[in-house]
Amino acid sequence: MATKTGEEKRALPGAELFADAALCASLLARLEAELDRPLRFMEVCGTHTVSLFRSGLHSLLPAGVVHLSGPGCPVCVTHDREIAACLTLAGKEGVTVATFGDLLRVPGPGGGSLKEAKAAGAEVEVVYSPLDSLDLARKRPERTVVFLGAGFETTAPAVAAAVLLAKKSGLGNFAVLSLHKLVPPALEALLAEEGAPGLDALLLPGHVSTILGLAPYRFLAERHKIPGVVGGFEPADILHSLLLMLDMRRTGLAEIRNQYTRAVPEEGNPRAREILFSVFEPADALWRGLESIPASGLIMRREYGDFDAWRRFSLVLPESPPVRGCRCGDVLRGRIAPAACPLFAAACTPASPVGPCMVSTEGSCAAHFLYREGREER
Ligand code: SF4
Repeated sequence: MATKTGEEKRALPGAELFADAALCASLLARLEAELDRPLRFMEVCGTHTVSLFRSGLHSLLPAGVVHLSGPGCPVCVTHDREIAACLTLAGKEGVTVATFGDLLRVPGPGGGSLKEAKAAGAEVEVVYSPLDSLDLARKRPERTVVFLGAGFETTAPAVAAAVLLAKKSGLGNFAVLSLHKLVPPALEALLAEEGAPGLDALLLPGHVSTILGLAPYRFLAERHKIPGVVGGFEPADILHSLLLMLDMRRTGLAEIRNQYTRAVPEEGNPRAREILFSVFEPADALWRGLESIPASGLIMRREYGDFDAWRRFSLVLPESPPVRGCRCGDVLRGRIAPAACPLFAAACTPASPVGPCMVSTEGSCAAHFLYREGREER
């Protein structure tokens, strides 16, 4: 869950080994040999979705391997009503909105976007890290700079660190609009839903797991009896993860295994979690497609209320109808493939997106669109 949300994207040392063609070919051959019946898995993370397409794995995988997208693209799961609140904020006198680039083009309920708000005169700046927005606040003391905190457990510690820095340095013209989401509660809600897609396994997000470690996913195996593999993002990582899923199926074990050991320690990053939860606390949150999920978001703790844009500007989530015709909610719950949306590649394209899944570089619709030529949608 990286890219435009500003999260770390550089390859780890040795990553090239996991893109090696000969290694991938041998893993693929093993997968073909070991696949005794169809394997349906959900890639929770948008980076996995993109990697499956960009590497060509999508078209090389045996026909019995079916991958479904999940709620792991932070821009995509940001709810219409949250986008509407961002647009309200951008329209306020004296406010500069600082955001990662992906959010800029996400259409709100009425069709307007932050990009359009900027064109109409609102001050909206693209930043590459929460710390950039602190710099912006220092340079523009006459404005209040509000950072749009959209992202998962990976992004939130850096946002929390920016708030701590702002407090320490007495930077009063800085605030955060927290739209953060927590992955495990969303997986719980997704699996508990009536008509949830039948899954053999979950490919769990590598980036988020660097912070969380493995423990928060154990409920998947213990309560839902669904195995999960925390996987890296190179093609061989994904193939290896699929083999681990098959291994668990063969042995009848439902466990949470770590394929991405070069980046994800078993215990995650306790220091990052400490920083995160010193500033934020869990609260109910709206997710596109999944609506309100208990304790799946982050609000700012009372002692940091001065930096909380929701309180500071008395913002509410406006009631609004969903964007007409967009099936992003179904795509994000693994209910349909993007091509099953009637607007896919017709009214909705990356150049003219109707929904966020076509905007974000990690969006499933964008990945299916960009790499669709000559490939069959499964
Ligand atoms: S194709 Fe466009 S309208 Fe349809 S689900 Fe994807 S983003 Fe939404």
